[in-house]
Amino acid sequence: MRDLPRAGRLPHAVLVDLARSAIAAGDWSEPTIQSSIDRFADALVTEVVNGTGVLLHTNLGRAPLPASVRSRTVELDLGTGRRGSRQTGIGRLLGVLCGAESALVVNNNAAAVMLVAAALADGREVAVSRGEAVEIGGAFRVPEVIERSGARLVDVGTTNRTRADDYRRAIGRPGADIALILSVHPSNYRIEGFTERPEVRELAALGVPVAVDIGSGLADADTPWLDGAPPAWLADEPAARQTLAAGADLVTFSTDKLLGGPQAGVIAGRAELVAKCAQHPLMRAMRPGSLVIEALQTTVTALLDRRPDDVAFWAMASMPLDAVRSRAERLAASCGDAVEVVEVESLPGAGSAPGRGIASVGVSFDGDHSVALRRCEVPVIARVESGRTVIDLRSVAPADDELVTAAILSALR
Ligand SMILES: *Cc1c(COP(=O)(O)O)cnc(C)c1O
Repeated sequence: MRDLPRAGRLPHAVLVDLARSAIAAGDWSEPTIQSSIDRFADALVTEVVNGTGVLLHTNLGRAPLPASVRSRTVELDLGTGRRGSRQTGIGRLLGVLCGAESALVVNNNAAAVMLVAAALADGREVAVSRGEAVEIGGAFRVPEVIERSGARLVDVGTTNRTRADDYRRAIGRPGADIALILSVHPSNYRIEGFTERPEVRELAALGVPVAVDIGSGLADADTPWLDGAPPAWLADEPAARQTLAAGADLVTFSTDKLLGGPQAGVIAGRAELVAKCAQHPLMRAMRPGSLVIEALQTTVTALLDRRPDDVAFWAMASMPLDAVRSRAERLAASCGDAVEVVEVESLPGAGSAPGRGIASVGVSFDGDHSVALRRCEVPVIARVESGRTVIDLRSVAPADDELVTAAILSALR
């Protein structure tokens, strides 16, 4: 059994178990055993090469992890030798990056929004625009998250147009008990045409704490970690620093989207409100482990030090087109005549910057070879367009170009 393809990746005890099940089912032919090995191996978390050109690919874990993540100290204050909090250092770094007094890290952005509603509005009301009571991929539904937090949702305005006055009326109505205004960036959903949304500074003038779920986690619209002006594809993306500067009391966002870090969520803003979230009993159930904190610390430090190449997502997104093209040319040349260089468009992905593409270059060859590429030792995920297999090199790390070459040669064989 050890000699079967991919069996070497499974622990011995698993192979024994698969063999026993096959025997119990009365079919221990090689194809049956192989398919049970494949099913098991397919379900494992594994290294893959992302050739789809979707830089933040939800099925491939959104932003890639930094290569250097290794966990060390967890909850020890190295100054006093006493127990510390794993949140202290990362909270400060995020505060500097986003221009926030304070910041807190939880497991994901859904947890961040729920914790904010629970800590600031339990048993009271949260005002949300009807145009922002949305569902975002993976069943994050704003009304349900608020209901589960113990707060009550108050619908404000209409689906396409909501003004500051609509919030004012909700706050002033008889018996109102609005503890929080929650504004949600609709991310991958767009209402076009006859629409209106209040500015954050108008909401901030209403006298109720304002939390803005910006979702994608762009830390600063000026992208100081990049050389030159912010890229055009970021134009409509809300950013943490500018949202807080406009008067939001809190922002929440995912750290595995445009921040480029591991899966986590951030609550950043006024220290007193962040502290209420940190002290809430739900926090214990939502706190991330030290591996995540360390990966996030590596990411935020690289952005603060202006080393975008050390954050895999930003390295991909900002690689000059010419550099991507020369990689594609080199790769195509080593694959032979069947493989040609093509101009393509990458997508930021993960619901970030919807409708905006990033110019890119890839390689393409005739036929749908996506299955053969997924069956390689390190699976390569390609896209198939008009009967051709396309691998976009912007979402492939340059160190993996040789691996992609080998995969194409084996798929074409
Ligand atoms: C992505 C997103 C979420 C969900 O974030 P997770 O980190 O996946 O929990 C919530 N709100 C907005 C606006 C988003 O874009």
